[in-house]
Formats: sequence, C-alpha cells, structure tokens
Amino acid sequence: MLNVQQLTGGYSGEKVVNDISFSVNKGELFGILGPNGSGKTTLLKMLTGILPFAGGKAYIKGKPIEEYKLKELAKVAAILPQHSSQTFSFTVKETVSLGRYAHQKGLFQTWTEEDESVVMEVMKQTEVDPFAHHDLNELSGGERQRVYLAQALAQKPEILFLDEPTNHLDLSFQKSLLDTLKRWTKEQGLTVVSIFHDLNLAGLYCDRLLLLENGKIQKEGLPDEVLEEDRIRSVYRTKIMKQPHPSVPAPQLVLLPEGETEGDLSINESMLSFSLEHIVLKAPFPLKTMSSGVVGSGTGWHKNFVNRHVDRRYDCSDHRNEMREYLRSYNFEPVETVGMMTAVILEDVCHHFYEGSNFSVLVVVTAGVGNSVDASKSDAHSSGMKPGTINTWVFVNGVLTEEAYIQAIVTASEAKAKAMSDMEVKDLITGTIATGTSTDSILIAATQRGSGLDYAGTITSLGKIIGKGVHECTCRAIQKSRERAGS
Ligand code: ADP
Repeated sequence: MLNVQQLTGGYSGEKVVNDISFSVNKGELFGILGPNGSGKTTLLKMLTGILPFAGGKAYIKGKPIEEYKLKELAKVAAILPQHSSQTFSFTVKETVSLGRYAHQKGLFQTWTEEDESVVMEVMKQTEVDPFAHHDLNELSGGERQRVYLAQALAQKPEILFLDEPTNHLDLSFQKSLLDTLKRWTKEQGLTVVSIFHDLNLAGLYCDRLLLLENGKIQKEGLPDEVLEEDRIRSVYRTKIMKQPHPSVPAPQLVLLPEGETEGDLSINESMLSFSLEHIVLKAPFPLKTMSSGVVGSGTGWHKNFVNRHVDRRYDCSDHRNEMREYLRSYNFEPVETVGMMTAVILEDVCHHFYEGSNFSVLVVVTAGVGNSVDASKSDAHSSGMKPGTINTWVFVNGVLTEEAYIQAIVTASEAKAKAMSDMEVKDLITGTIATGTSTDSILIAATQRGSGLDYAGTITSLGKIIGKGVHECTCRAIQKSRERAGS
C-alpha cells in the first residue's frame, strides 16, 4: 500500500528526515515513534504531499506520490493533522462534509445521496452525530478531534495518516478510537499510518512500529522488538522498564521516578508482632512481593503482612471478602496487605534473621501437619479446601530479579519438603512421607534496595540461606506443634 525508499527532506534545504525506507501493507496499523523533533511530523507531511522530497521515492498503491493529482490523492489518502484549525465558523456536519470534496463530480459539485449517507455514517462512527448542527467552536478539544477524524473518514480513504490522534482525547475515547481503527484495518482493509506519543498505546495497537531518532530510522519491526528497554532508554534518554501487559501479549513500558529508592532501611525481626489472632510484619515501605496469599496474591507491592489464625471450622465460601473485612477491621488496607490464613496455633511460629555477605533474609514459618499430603500421591485425596497449615514468609533485604523470585519459591518449597521428610511427617491417607500440606502459602518479599541478587537457586548465595532458613524454621515449627499436640 505504501512503499518508501530512501526518503530525504526537510525545510529550506535543511534535511530533517534522512534516508528513510519502509513499507506498509494493506490492512496494517503502522506506528511512527520518536522523541520530539525526531522528524515524525515532517515525514508524515512528505507522505501526504504537503512537503516536497529532497531525495528518494514514496509510492502509494504503486504510484509515486508526486504523480497523484491533489483530488486523486485525496480519494486514496486522508490525513488527520495534529492541530486542525479553521478560521471560519462551520457546523460539525459542514466540517465533516468538506471531506467529500474529492468525490464530488462536475462543475457544480452537486451533493449526492451517497455524499449524505457517507457523512451520516462517519459522524455515527465517531460519535459526533449528536452535535451535527452545533458550531465547531462550541465543542471541546476532544470532540473537535473526533469531528476532524470524521472529516478524514468522509474521504473514504484506503490509507489514513494520523498525527497523534489521541492527543486531546480522554482515556475512554483514546481506547474507543484505537479499537475502531484496529477494527477497520482488520475488517475493511483500511491502512493506518499513525504517529504516537504514547509508546504503550503504540505497543498495544500497532502491527509494526518505526522508531525515528534525529531524522533517521533507529529501528523498524514488531512492537516487542522496537520497544526494547535499552533502546527506548537511550533514544528517549529516560529511565524506563519494560514489562508484559497483564492480559494481552503486548509490551508495556513504565517510567521510573527519581529518588524513590533512596535510603537503606532493612526488614528485621523488630518489625514483627505476635498475638493469638495474627502474626504481623509491618514494613516501613512497600516491598515487592510474589505470593499465594488469600489477599494480595500474585505479584505486587505490599507493606503489611498478616498471617491470621482461623478456627478449623472456618467457613471458606467467601474467604477473600471476609479476609478483606477482617484486615480493614484491624486498619490494614487490603490493597497494601498480603493476608494468609492458618489453623495453626500462632504461638508455634518460628522465625530467624540470617545475614548473607551483602544481603540479609528474615524467615517466618507457621507449620501444622494434620493436613499433610504427599504431592506425588495427592490423587488419593479429595479436593476440599481447608485452611493452609504451612505458611512460609521469606523477606529479602536486596534487589531480586523476576527469575530470583521464582527460584526463591522453588528453593523454599524444596527446603520445606526436606523438612517434612526429616521430621518424618506422613500423609495420613497414603502412609507415605508428606511433602507439604494441601493449602500451603508462600510469600517472597524483597525491599528492592541494596545489592542485586540475580538468582536464588539452591547453591547461589541467596538460595543457600533461603534453603537453610526455611528448613530450620519449618523443622522447629513442626516440632513445636507436635509438642503441643502431645502435651
Ligand atoms: P516531531 O514530529 O518528531 O516532533 P518534526 O518533524 O515536527 O518532529 O520536526 C523535526 C525538526 O524539523 C525539528 O528540529 C523542527 O524544529 C524542524 N521543523 C519542523 N517544522 C519546521 C518548519 N515548518 N520549518 C523549519 N523547521 C521545521
């Protein structure tokens, strides 16, 4: 649909875009990115016939752009510029109707039924039909943006060029505009070439991206390739991190604010408090967590950690909401809290602080083994939910990678299983050595300050401490709960 070869151009002899080559297929949503002044708008002006070329070629549907007559080009390509303005006062419908100019025939430019129906259709699509007879000057910036989009669509273009189309739009209109453009590309084969300021929107909606830097192509390709952490950091000269979108396979970039990770406070045993109802660790700042708690599970940032005692007959039917209410009643904000439950008597908790070479670890375990299961033979068990009986907390004073979080969970689980074996805890149904209980929970929480800890496998420096700490604390907690049962 669009083929650009070694395009060079700018203003009064000065090259603003330099040696740009790329092509866009029919039905693609193609994004152009780059910092301010990198030449995005200049490139778009050249591709829409507004600015002449100093060198190179650009073809739309196989024909060089400069060979199109103005009206002929307007039937194929439409542009939504960044700042549309008009000096005369027009109504919304009149403004949209101007988009039909290229399709009108004859000397008198008669308005046909087709013109009318296209205008009505595009006003509906962009949801400006309720203001059809309002004066354009009465509308908000976002509404006006949609009117100009309707005007561009009224041209019934095959390729649509947009310069930051979401600029004046609020969140829901940004989403609805891009959803609509995406749908038109897929269903009607419309080709969209759009400049984006927002890298995340570009990553979410575009099929391919072109990143400009100082008028040259820095990278062209799939969103995941173009939006690489190091590349974006260097081109935009800012601290960012890349992470996957939580529900669709698209990259997302987040800004890192300055000054947020100063100070060297570490988590220690003085932050723990105990009662018969719950064990609490209150951190002075949010920790990055990966956990299987009833509240706050998955990954997140939390500063309260609550292990709550519940009766064996606790009704689990709506346990998440009930737990949230419980936390609120003790002034723990659920969004800031990882909350777990256990039927274990909390006096039997075991905790210990371990010093590593340039990091430290606090382990806290509550363990009861009435509910033990051999994971290799759990087929023999019914699947009823009971309150968890081994809850393991591992707090790390250090900076963990995602990989280290997962390895920490593996290492802690292996150490727990070994503790069960060393303490000869049996699965009461199968009679074999148990590996854990049916509803164990785990928390790995790190300060993300101090030394970098890339790995937590069993023989890494962090893994050695987690393995030893979880094993020791679990054995002692099992011992304590046995002593209680025997007494
Ligand atoms: P972007 O859209 O990526 O922010 P532009 O294409 O608008 O970048 O601008 C690229 C460079 O061209 C900038 O250095 C800008 O100052 C210059 N420029 C833009 N428009 C004009 C113009 N009309 N006349 C002269 N220089 C211009």
